[in-house]
Amino acid sequence: MSKEEKLYALLDTLCTSVEAAGTLALGTLGLACEGAEKAAEAVRLRCQAARVEGEMGEKLMEAGEMVYATHTGSPTESEELLEKLREIDDLKARLSELNETLGRKPESAVCPGCGGAVEEGDHFCRSCGVKLD
Ligand SMILES: [Zn+2]
Repeated sequence: MSKEEKLYALLDTLCTSVEAAGTLALGTLGLACEGAEKAAEAVRLRCQAARVEGEMGEKLMEAGEMVYATHTGSPTESEELLEKLREIDDLKARLSELNETLGRKPESAVCPGCGGAVEEGDHFCRSCGVKLD
C-alpha cells in the first residue's frame, strides 16, 4: 500500500465514522425534538385550557349577577341571560375537548390482543398483527 493509498484508506474510515456519528446525532436530535414538540404542545394546550376555564368563570359570574339582579328587582332580559348561558355551554364544551386531548396519551396505548405498545395511527398491531380501531 502506497503512502497515498494509506491516506485514502484512512480518510475513508474517517468519513464513514463521521457519517455514522452524524446519523446517530441526528437520530438523537430528532427524538429530542419530537419529545420537546410534544411537551410544548401539552403546555400550549394546558394554557389554552386555563384560559378557557378563566373565561368560563367570568361568564358564570356575569350570569350569576344577572340572576341576582332579577332577585333584587332589576331583571335582565331572559334572552340576554340565555345568550350568556349558551356562551358558557360553548366554553364548557371547548374545555372538555381540551382536557380530553390533554388526557389522551397515544404513546401509552396498548394492543387489545397482546398488550404490546401501539403507535397512534397504526391499523394493525406491530407485535401480533391484530386489527386495531
Ligand atoms: Zn398485539
